[in-house]
Amino acid sequence: MDPESVTALIQTTAGAAGAIKTVLGVIAAARAQVKDNKEADNKLSEASELVLELRSRLFDLQEKALHLQQEYAGLLRENMELREDIRREQARTTERQKYKRKQVGGSVLIMHNDDPSTLFCPACFETKDRTIPLQDHSREGAIHGSYYCPACQERYRI
Ligand SMILES: [Zn+2]
Repeated sequence: MDPESVTALIQTTAGAAGAIKTVLGVIAAARAQVKDNKEADNKLSEASELVLELRSRLFDLQEKALHLQQEYAGLLRENMELREDIRREQARTTERQKYKRKQVGGSVLIMHNDDPSTLFCPACFETKDRTIPLQDHSREGAIHGSYYCPACQERYRI
């Protein structure tokens, strides 16, 4: 049920409650006037019972409307949270697109498009979504150098 229908239902039930109150007033007034008329009195009793039944149904409807309203509020909240998730995921995707893989020696490292001089740990980037700049641990004069990630302690041979 959409929110407009719920609101309409609540307004209808509120209107019906007012109408029932009016009818009960009319019945009471009529009863006072026709005390001597047995047949009229019976009819008024029937009408009273009918009104009471309507009132009971109206309470049920009001309860259902309230329940629907709460359900709707829950759905609104959930929708807001999901939109926030989507927004965050889109921002994450946009941020990740600023990086690309780069083969350096024997390792594939991560590089920012605007700053090719800084290399980042591919393991931290792929698994934790973190950009950790690698430290150059190449020894002077060595044939193969290496990079070191201070976050996950991984070494990358280059
Ligand atoms: Zn790392």
